[in-house]
Amino acid sequence: MDAAGLPVVIIVGRPNVGKSTLFNRFVRKRQAITDPTPGVTRDQVSGSWERDGKTVLLTDTGGIRPGSGGMDAIVSRKSLASFDGADCIILLLEIGEMTGEDQEVIQSLRPHAAKVILAVNKVDTELREDGLGDYWGLGFPEVISVSSAHGRNCDELADAVFRKIDFSLFPLPDATGASTHDITVAILGKPNTGKSTLMNRLLGEDRAIVSEIPGTTRDILESRIDFKGKTFRLLDTAGIRRKSKVNEDVEYYSVNRAIASIEDADVVFLLIDASEGLADQDKKIAAQIVKKGRGVILVLNKWDKMDGSRKSFKAAEDRLRFQFPVLEFAPVIPVSALSGWNIESLLSRSLEINIQIHKRVETGILNRALEAWIRDNPPPRDGRRQFKVRFMTQVRTRPVRFVLFVNRRDGFPPAYVGYIKNRLRHDLGFRDIPIEIEVRAKDRD
Ligand code: GDP
Ligand code: GDP
Repeated sequence: MDAAGLPVVIIVGRPNVGKSTLFNRFVRKRQAITDPTPGVTRDQVSGSWERDGKTVLLTDTGGIRPGSGGMDAIVSRKSLASFDGADCIILLLEIGEMTGEDQEVIQSLRPHAAKVILAVNKVDTELREDGLGDYWGLGFPEVISVSSAHGRNCDELADAVFRKIDFSLFPLPDATGASTHDITVAILGKPNTGKSTLMNRLLGEDRAIVSEIPGTTRDILESRIDFKGKTFRLLDTAGIRRKSKVNEDVEYYSVNRAIASIEDADVVFLLIDASEGLADQDKKIAAQIVKKGRGVILVLNKWDKMDGSRKSFKAAEDRLRFQFPVLEFAPVIPVSALSGWNIESLLSRSLEINIQIHKRVETGILNRALEAWIRDNPPPRDGRRQFKVRFMTQVRTRPVRFVLFVNRRDGFPPAYVGYIKNRLRHDLGFRDIPIEIEVRAKDRD
């Protein structure tokens, strides 16, 4: 069972047997990346897989290469550890091609044989079924031949998986239809800023893969945690990276996924390596966050690395503010994902921002405040004519948007709109989030 209370199904197999192709077929979003280069899909990716009103969490464990060193070994350790937590394991092999790596994976699954379904992939036509006999001999209770690329027998495999899980052990979500989480947080930032480390720290277990190799984390990983009685849904996205010639397609999906996760989020944790500062990509993400009107916290990570002289938080914050005028409203919070320092205040702050992003001000209260703001600082004149503000109303939350009705829209001074925005932020409790004001003309009725 995972943190969200869903049964967990994992797909295991050596690189290139077709795990991500199968994952994509079941989860249906383009969440895993398939690539013909062996070993390109390495990281763990998860997504919810629904069938006949039931939901499981499907995880593609990445390539398993038990014997090798380097990054493969890291991935493998991870995959092996996840066998215990799985409710059903799809062992994926390839027809007509049994390698030493396959043998090792099979061995490591022996203790879990009862929950394994052996799927023999790339059986694109009946003709290829001839070779299946060997696979029955491996001693797993169920063997199904599939073509994950063409869908052949994939329904049968799905049925077998869902049959294997005892759903009575998993309580249904709240019958009131209330959402199963209170806040969605997207964790973004360029590679190596510490996203996986933060995720692991938050989850309190070695869930995501963390390594020194830049760009290890590539896909969205969704997890849930409870904090102060609230459920956080955490989206850990791949680092937004520069396009490299080697891996253009992979990069393309990563950036898109990061942007999609902003849409999904209430609050974005934008991770910045405190010893390095801002990157161009950060500015692009920032622009997207403002455009979508989501909350954001600038997370100055690796604060433990800052030495005494550079440890002035004020100086670091000022530098960020200067480089990042578009996020002038966003809180800056120093943390150490590695040691866990200040992580609680990060979470507390995100809950405050979540309240702001969902806050609705009643029109009466809003307009009484507006009258006071106008009294303090009346709109300017333009030659002979006076600009006038009639009234204001909040039209939505997440993003928080207001409409300001004025006597003349043409030439209405942006600086005055900026003034109203400022007062809204400080007087009515939208201090830490982007807000939008649309100016519309309205004659006096
Ligand atoms: P992974 O490394 O195990 O995740 O494997 P991928 O899903 O990336 O697939 C590896 C390669 O096998 C890709 O070129 C796929 O197009 C191909 N492949 C996957 N499933 C099938 C299948 O059912 N039939 C055939 N012929 N090729 C497949
Ligand atoms: P990601 O690519 O953004 O997921 O970054 P990782 O989580 O893989 O971290 C990249 C490197 O930074 C790893 O070597 C981490 O151990 C290191 N790191 C992450 N957070 C901290 C931190 O708070 N302090 C220090 N000193 N190192 C950190």
